[in-house]
Amino acid sequence: MLIEKLKRIVGDGNFTTDSHELEPHLREWRDIWTGRTLLLVRPDTTRKVSEVVRACHESNTSVVPQGGNTGLCGGAIPDDSGEQVLLSLSGMNKIRALSANDYTVIADAGCTLAAVQNAAADADRFFPLSLAAEGSCQIGGNLSTNAGGINVLRYGTARTLALGLEVVLADGTIWDGLRALRKDTAGYDLKQFFIGAEGTLGVITAACLRLFPAVQNPQTAFVAVSSPSAAVSLLAELRQQLADQLQAFELIPDRAIRFVHQHIPDTRAPIADSSPWYVLIEVANLATEELLESALMSCFERGLITEATIAKNRGEAASLWAVRHAISEAQKKEGASLKHDVSVPVAEVGNFVEMASRFVEDYLPGIRPVAFGHVGDGNIHFNLSQPINGSPEAFLAEREPLAALVYGCVDQFDGSISAEHGIGQAKKADLRKYRGNLEVDLMRKVKGAFDPRNIMNPGKVF
Ligand SMILES: Cc1cc2nc3c(=O)[nH]c(=O)nc-3n(C[C@H](O)[C@H](O)[C@H](O)COP(=O)(O)OP(=O)(O)OC[C@H]3O[C@@H](n4cnc5c(N)ncnc54)[C@H](O)[C@@H]3O)c2cc1C
Repeated sequence: MLIEKLKRIVGDGNFTTDSHELEPHLREWRDIWTGRTLLLVRPDTTRKVSEVVRACHESNTSVVPQGGNTGLCGGAIPDDSGEQVLLSLSGMNKIRALSANDYTVIADAGCTLAAVQNAAADADRFFPLSLAAEGSCQIGGNLSTNAGGINVLRYGTARTLALGLEVVLADGTIWDGLRALRKDTAGYDLKQFFIGAEGTLGVITAACLRLFPAVQNPQTAFVAVSSPSAAVSLLAELRQQLADQLQAFELIPDRAIRFVHQHIPDTRAPIADSSPWYVLIEVANLATEELLESALMSCFERGLITEATIAKNRGEAASLWAVRHAISEAQKKEGASLKHDVSVPVAEVGNFVEMASRFVEDYLPGIRPVAFGHVGDGNIHFNLSQPINGSPEAFLAEREPLAALVYGCVDQFDGSISAEHGIGQAKKADLRKYRGNLEVDLMRKVKGAFDPRNIMNPGKVF
């Protein structure tokens, strides 16, 4: 009997079928996807993960890997059959090794992102991946979704931060690719297949990650701009003036500031006079503190910004970031919302936001676009809040036509329908529509090669 075998493998206290305990694992953050499971297992070693997957492989049972379950597209939620095994990586939560000299850390896949950041900081090093869910999302989930976050502009996505992986393959075999090499052209770069694969090719059990020197003299500014296009011009100018030391460059619409102010306690508007758009800027490692101020002053004189404030200390900087990080939570309190995590070439961000906003407002009067995010990476969270006093159900029923409008605009700029959250269950049909048959058929061939029995997170991505 598979269930009994899996229970024996993981041991007492590391499995559950209790509906109360299962509840948070079977429901996605925004309550959009729910599922059922045969059994939740929480193995605490790679060997146990391997034995669990092997047993599932032998009985043709599907496995759904789950990290912190903060993904926003239903990738970590099992289907409704109640026949899939939910494999939580939370038990795999140790920092295995950290080398300050090598600037690397080897972490179990179930370490939270915050735990990896803290381990790096304790060694006077910096792990740059950072996102609002960092207290609960896990490094394995970050890699499986190729997470982005706020520091991609300078350090790249999760993909660029991984030097090596340990993976349990679909038949239970352990692949030890935990190398710490900066250069390695010995054949195909196999780890890249598993990064961004959303658990459809294997289970990541550990990763060797790149670290960086501790950030010196970080400075945070909040500036007002007239439009997303002005933000793009500002970005280009600041990169030049600040010797490319920008760490983050986040676009925020006034509507998001009002949502946060209204719903999240202890937050205040960072700039007294309201502006239609703002940018939260973080720089570090500048030769002198004055450089940021003089760069902003010259941008002000050239009309690129209309107002600016620079945080005087880390406490003030944290308050500015708190506003940015609270946007998703505040938008949740404004009723139903539809999220579109998209990217276009950086220079086209302004044109995209303007076009997509016009299209959705024409289609559904009263709709409230909240376009915010990582302009420095061309990545906009083009989120839509329901009309005030409208019915949430009626709004959510418009999901497909609204997505078609937004993705149609993305397509016009040769962009991507998924910049950093992945495909999961949410965008399967859109993947084929916008990436085309050739690309999706090639992806399917990769899937078939790694997982011929289709037991790894089936029904996701494709
Ligand atoms: C408030 C909020 C803000 C966010 N901001 C950002 C942001 O700025 N940038 C960003 O990129 N994302 C963001 N996200 C989305 C989410 O946090 C990321 O996608 C994150 O990387 C998911 O990690 P997780 O551990 O929660 O993965 P889960 O949600 O548990 O899983 C995600 C996918 O990865 C698979 N998976 C998980 N662990 C493994 C593993 N060990 N091996 C194989 N497959 C695995 C799952 O099957 C699933 O398909 C945000 C989410 C929230 C709630």
